[in-house]
Amino acid sequence: MNGMIAMAYLFSAVMFILSLGGLSSHETARRGNIYGMVGMAVAIIATISGVATGAYWMVAIAMVVGAVIGLSLARRVAMTQMPQMVALLHSFVGLAAVLIGWGGFLDPRITLHGAAHVVHSTEIYLGVFIGAITLTGSLVAFCKLQGLVSGKPLMLPARHWLNLIAILACIVLGILFVPADVHAGTVINLLLMTAIALLLGIHLVAAIGGADMPVVISMLNSYSGWAAAATGFMLGNDLLIVVGALVGSSGAILSYIMCRGMNRSFISVILGGFGSDGGEVSDEEVDGEVIAIDQQELAEELKAADSIIIVPGFGMAVAHAQQAVSDLTDRLRGMGKMVRFGIHPVAGRLPGHMNVLLAEANVPYDIVLEMDEINPDFPSTDLVLVIGANDTVNPDAVEKPGSPIAGMPVLEVWKAHRVVVLKRSMASGYAGVANPLFYKENARMLFGDAKDSLQGVLGRVSD
Ligand code: NDP
Repeated sequence: MNGMIAMAYLFSAVMFILSLGGLSSHETARRGNIYGMVGMAVAIIATISGVATGAYWMVAIAMVVGAVIGLSLARRVAMTQMPQMVALLHSFVGLAAVLIGWGGFLDPRITLHGAAHVVHSTEIYLGVFIGAITLTGSLVAFCKLQGLVSGKPLMLPARHWLNLIAILACIVLGILFVPADVHAGTVINLLLMTAIALLLGIHLVAAIGGADMPVVISMLNSYSGWAAAATGFMLGNDLLIVVGALVGSSGAILSYIMCRGMNRSFISVILGGFGSDGGEVSDEEVDGEVIAIDQQELAEELKAADSIIIVPGFGMAVAHAQQAVSDLTDRLRGMGKMVRFGIHPVAGRLPGHMNVLLAEANVPYDIVLEMDEINPDFPSTDLVLVIGANDTVNPDAVEKPGSPIAGMPVLEVWKAHRVVVLKRSMASGYAGVANPLFYKENARMLFGDAKDSLQGVLGRVSD
């Protein structure tokens, strides 16, 4: 039986690696998902047959309850709420690691001595530590993304010292906890560390500002992977160790790539805004005139343009405008115009959010370009359509050193001959900063819901 389970785990691990490989490009993403699902199904069956020894009905009830909750949540959650959902799911992994760690510590059947005891205690201590940070950090991220608490960074005085003291305290408590036999004193050490790690998770994520949230989400993803790996060590489950390490390392690589894309230091974001300029979210007004146009005027501009770049953002997702964008693209390409898309790495609310929506609406992959590929082409472009994007096209990021989004590379849409922004109002984007793009001489605003506007424009372009 054990040999069969080991084989099944090996098969699942290979499936998960193939899945990650598949998810790295649009064309193979669907296949990647299928590999992942097959791997997980085999892993669940193998784990249940290895662990449960009779009370299968209990496992079945737990699975049915979990599946009903998971299915109903997945069906109800809108694409725009996915980051909150992901943050909440990460918190469950953290909670599981904390509970399993404490369970392993309190289990009277485990009586280990010497080196085996030290290894077991270390696994428990690390599992609870990483799990507790992941749990509260993910919950704070959830609250920020859901708008339950302010997205502004919490800048406590001497916050880096607070983090340092908390980490040092956990190290000291760990040195006391690991070699000691189970008695009242060790319980206190583990309890104190759990409390400190829970507070540390809150503080680390609370200190991170709105525009850096994408990096935090992928970092919490990484933490949840390490928490799962630690749980795997505690339970002696090889597959959990492998899967946790895969999630942990791929999350860390994604965080690093996103930090590079946003010109943020990886270490500074991990340490909760360390080294950032601490820029405040501003409500300041921008001087200048905003020129609004209507659907007919935009249709005329489109007819006159030869080269067009479409820059989608979170508002396209809110408006469910991807199909209208795709229809307009087909129409314009049918008229012989060069139409391409420019995608910012943190547009929307999830890594790859815009790519997923455009793929869903059958926009051809080869006209969807990354920020670095498209940025040099704006000066030679006739017309840029900004559809519900805001922070990712804010010139202050490159032109105003004191801005909270300073240093973040953006799509330099204002360099085109004409830029038309489709949004409902003058409201700011996720980072809460005003956008001088709307006041530029070559900028025009088409106010209204992006889907309604695009459908109206499509009708007029076709006239
Ligand atoms: P923003 O969040 O900056 O702006 C979106 C704009 O869409 C708003 O200004 C809003 O203006 C407009 N909008 C909303 N609804 C509609 C609608 N129905 N029709 C038309 N417009 C609409 O979007 P970006 O994509 O430019 O930037 C993403 C931001 O989110 C960045 O700050 C990023 O750091 C952050 N973020 C990204 C994550 C990721 O992983 N990608 C995760 C978490 C945060 P109005 O209300 O006037 O219509």
